[in-house]
Order: sequence, then C-alpha cells, then structure tokens
Amino acid sequence: PYRQYANVESAVKETSAKTSVAKALPLVSVIIPFLNEADVLAACHLRVCEALSKLKQHCEVIYIDDGSNDNSWELVSHFKHPLHQIRSLRLSRNFGKEAAMSAGMKVATGRCTILLDADLQDPPEYIPDMVQAWQDGAQVVEMQRRERHGESWAKRTTAHCFYRFMSKISDHPITENVGDFRLMDRKVVNVINTLPERTRFMKGLLAWPGFTRKILTFDRDPRLAGNTKWNYPKLIHLALEGITSFSTKPLRWATMAGLITSAIAFIMALVIFTKTLVWGNPVAGYPSTILIVLFLGGIQLLSIGVLGEYVGRLFIESKQRPLYVLMEDTMTKPTFKYSDS
Ligand code: UDP
Ligand code: MG
Repeated sequence: PYRQYANVESAVKETSAKTSVAKALPLVSVIIPFLNEADVLAACHLRVCEALSKLKQHCEVIYIDDGSNDNSWELVSHFKHPLHQIRSLRLSRNFGKEAAMSAGMKVATGRCTILLDADLQDPPEYIPDMVQAWQDGAQVVEMQRRERHGESWAKRTTAHCFYRFMSKISDHPITENVGDFRLMDRKVVNVINTLPERTRFMKGLLAWPGFTRKILTFDRDPRLAGNTKWNYPKLIHLALEGITSFSTKPLRWATMAGLITSAIAFIMALVIFTKTLVWGNPVAGYPSTILIVLFLGGIQLLSIGVLGEYVGRLFIESKQRPLYVLMEDTMTKPTFKYSDS
C-alpha cells in the first residue's frame, strides 16, 4: 500500500527526513565562538541546551575557544548534555571570530547550522522559531536586530552608515542590521566551506551563496557580563576588509579621480597659456600653485593607498596559510536517545 501525501512538497520533506542518513545526523548544529567568556559560558550552555530540548531531536553544540587566556576552556571542555552532542574545539591562539566560526562550520554535521555569540546577546530562545522557519522552506534564516540595546549612539550610527555604504558598493546585497546570528541549511554551509579566502568578511561571505532567505526580527540584549572584544581600530579594520574583499569599486574611483583631475589640468593649462599670451606674465599665483600641488599630491597618495590595500590582500591570499590552527578537539556524546530520532 502506498502512503498518500497531500502534495509533492510534503512528500519530499517527509521521505527525506525519514531516510536513515538524515536521521543519524543532528537536526541542528549550534556554533558558539568565544574569547575569554568564562563569566557567561555556563549560563550560555544552559540556555542553549534548554532551547534545543524544545526541538525534541538530537542536536549538536560546537564551542570554539578562540585563544582564551582565562579558564573558559576548562569550563567548556567539561560541558556535556544527556541528549545532545557537545563538541569543543580549541584554536592554538586568537585567530579572530571569523576564523573561529569557519572552524565551527567545517566540523558541523547538523542538517542546519546556527551561529550564536557566547555573550548571550543573541538570545538562544529564538532557536525553535528559526528552525521552524527553516522547516517551512527557508534555507537561510537571518535574524535582524530591531533594537540595539546597550550600544552607544556613535556605534549605531557608524554601523548604519557602513551597511549603507556596503550595500551601495557590493554586488550582492547585505541585509542591514543582520549580524552573524543566523540559521543556514547544510547546502549553504557546504558552499561557504568551499570559499577559500583568508580575509574573511563574514557578513559578505555568508550572504554570497544566496539561496532562499527569510528575515526574522529580534531585540538584541545587552551583553550578560564581561566586555565587548571590539574597539574602533578593530571595527575600521573590519570595514576595510569588507570593502576590499567584496568590491573593486574603490580602484575604479581612484581611476575616475585621476581622469577628472587630468581633465581639469588640461583646461587650466589652456586658460593659463592664453592668459600669458594676452596679458604677459606678471609673477603671481603662489596660492593657486601650492593648492594644486597639494591637491594632486593628496589624490595620488590616496590612490596609492587604495591600491596598496588590494595588493596587501593579494599578498596575504597568495601565502595560502591555513585560516586557523586546531590545538584540541573534545567531544561528549549524548547518553540518551530521543525515541523518534
Ligand atoms: N569573539 C571571538 N574572537 C574574537 C573576538 C570575539 O571568538 O577575537 C567572540 C566573543 O567571545 C563573543 C562574540 O565573538 O562570543 C562576539 O564578540 P563581542 O560580544 O565582543 O562583540 P559585540 O557583540 O560587542 O559586537
Ligand atoms: Mg557581544
């Protein structure tokens, strides 16, 4: 006897969910990179596992220690849960959150993957809603911040301007106010894992594969404890990384600036030449000379700087160094099984 399905979509969904391969894989992999978060990790673990238990299926949590020098690793490497697999990776030093997330995505085995901050600014309580949106067909579920609690006016405005600028110059749109907190289907994670670049601007990389997306909004909480690991020099670095790794438009602008100044110089040469012919050459014009020299010098330095940013990144890419180095890798398996998984 054949089973009757309401429509093709539900047939595909149910049959693929029932194959033994799909059943053996965790439903969700939650990836949590952290750096010196000993104050919040225990609370984080509790809340994440609680949220996962609502899904009633076997899941996986991956912690990545990005070179902490407090006792975060001692804490995390002892985490376990009766129903979920807990894996902890330790990088050999601080490689940056981007590299830590990439390490997590490489080892994740879940049918979908969620990126989460350890400081609980991205509330784990949204995980069931995200998984629901994924089960309803979205391959990427982006979490958009409605309010940015606990962030200064200056940070909010600069972030807003940056998103505006990026979406102007980038070929693939980046949704404003969506951080790393998001869910991605296995297919999307597989694509991201094949992207080889070393300068990893995650917001751009994560948006690059495309796929069907859904945006959910949430209120971002203030940090539970500890301090932000970001400062303005780091943010400027991140912004430059984003711009240079996703667009060559600044190079185009440098060319345009060169063209425009050359055109202006040509017109001025004609004007000055005729003026000298008609009225002779009384020595004057020191201010205009110095102005033009400084202006051209400025544009040249700026253009060389822009060029240098790209050449520097070529240099780093050409070395082909690994993104991160793993020092330790521990895993605790669940002791119980969900009856239906
Ligand atoms: N983080 C990391 N490596 C770093 C910096 C930060 O793994 O080099 C982690 C950090 O522990 C936290 C998350 O990335 O879990 C977000 O960092 P943070 O809260 O400092 O940034 P903010 O939320 O202020 O943007
Ligand atoms: Mg934070």
